[in-house]
Amino acid sequence: MDFSLSDDQRDLADGIRRFLADRVAPSVAACETAGRPLPDGFARLVELGITGLPFPKRYGGAGLDYITLGLICEELEYCDTSLRTMMSVHIGLAGCAIYQWGSEDQKQRFLTPLAAGRKLGAFGLTEPDAGSDVGALRSTARRDGDRYILNGSKIWISCATQADVFVVFAKTDPAAGKHGISAFVVEREAAGAALHSFALHNKYGVRAGDTGGLAFTDLVVPAANRLGEEGEGFVIAMTALENGRYTVAAGATGLIRACLDASVAYARQRVTFGKAIGQHQLIQELIAQMSAAYEASRLLYLQAGWLKNQGLRNTRQTALAKWFACDAALRAADDAMEIHGAYGFSDEYPVARYLRNARGAVIYEGSREIQKIMHGEYALGYRVDKPVRCPLPPYAEDAAGVPTANRQKG
Ligand SMILES: Cc1cc2nc3c(=O)[nH]c(=O)nc-3n(C[C@H](O)[C@H](O)[C@H](O)COP(=O)(O)OP(=O)(O)OC[C@H]3O[C@@H](n4cnc5c(N)ncnc54)[C@H](O)[C@@H]3O)c2cc1C
Repeated sequence: MDFSLSDDQRDLADGIRRFLADRVAPSVAACETAGRPLPDGFARLVELGITGLPFPKRYGGAGLDYITLGLICEELEYCDTSLRTMMSVHIGLAGCAIYQWGSEDQKQRFLTPLAAGRKLGAFGLTEPDAGSDVGALRSTARRDGDRYILNGSKIWISCATQADVFVVFAKTDPAAGKHGISAFVVEREAAGAALHSFALHNKYGVRAGDTGGLAFTDLVVPAANRLGEEGEGFVIAMTALENGRYTVAAGATGLIRACLDASVAYARQRVTFGKAIGQHQLIQELIAQMSAAYEASRLLYLQAGWLKNQGLRNTRQTALAKWFACDAALRAADDAMEIHGAYGFSDEYPVARYLRNARGAVIYEGSREIQKIMHGEYALGYRVDKPVRCPLPPYAEDAAGVPTANRQKG
């Protein structure tokens, strides 16, 4: 594996870091404190030209590779988790699911406006009684000629009130458990009043992000909007989560870097017992752990991104990157607060926000326990990856489909 970055990848990441520092970071703290989503979050992603980052240009995308997607998610979360979350659901969950499982017609109709930044995508899997246990979901989709009638509700949906297009999951065969789930693309405009969305308030973290719920009441969805076959919804959800997890892992890596930078700056200027606290070895230990966690998390997501670029199976590696980086980010944020002492316990410094935001990623897109179970099963030989009918396409430069991952040295 070769993780060397091209000049283009470095320049893009550097440019986005500067843009976010100048144009977005100044408004994050106020939105966070007020519990108000960043008003122009998606507009900023559009301005940056990253709303279709890994998708081919023929679908309105930027035609960039998955490692670049990871680098950009790292930069987004360095600024604030809410932006990376938006990128995760728009590209990792909704966009990639359509790219991977959609027919050519569906890619033209749904992926192109998402990638071009004309519409924001989101992902509706979780329900009030079904989170980790996806097979327990209760929403139904009843076939009626050339359409389906959806009823049910979703909760904890990122971008619920802002998104235009949702990839949602409902049971077409409620008696068949997880094998009875199907996936649908729901357009807010076409759904009208049959789709109700609402915001969740007083969240512990991701306060500058839009998190909410959806309710479907006799929502009519054309059969042409079903992704994959009837009953393939569970597999589609799992592959979508794999792509989403990759962006979460890269984002958590950015959060560790944010904790490290804030801690280094503070430790250099805060003086106790006659010297900067950075001179105390116990503080150095915390900073050293953050530094090691950043490097290890970054290598793990680069490994997963490299596999994605080649079109190779990466379920285990992506889950490991997500589990490790999210746990490491939570520890780094807690240690950053330790280093900041009482000042960290206020909104005067960003570390309290980092700690709140780090907690969420340990829960969503497969909780810590779900990742542990996966890795225990892999190690014991109880889990073996089965071939997926529609694998995520490898990175390809253009419509000609020429893989370029091996040519991006720098
Ligand atoms: C900020 C945020 C954004 C989110 N965005 C989205 C989104 O965009 N779309 C979406 O569909 N969902 C989203 N979610 C929901 C998220 O994916 C779920 O919260 C997650 O899957 C866990 O489900 P749950 O909360 O119902 O917990 P549960 O599944 O009820 O689990 C509760 C606890 O039990 C543990 N547990 C569960 N099963 C086992 C087991 N077999 N063995 C051991 N322990 C177990 C879990 O790890 C957890 O600690 C979001 C959540 C948050 C917090």
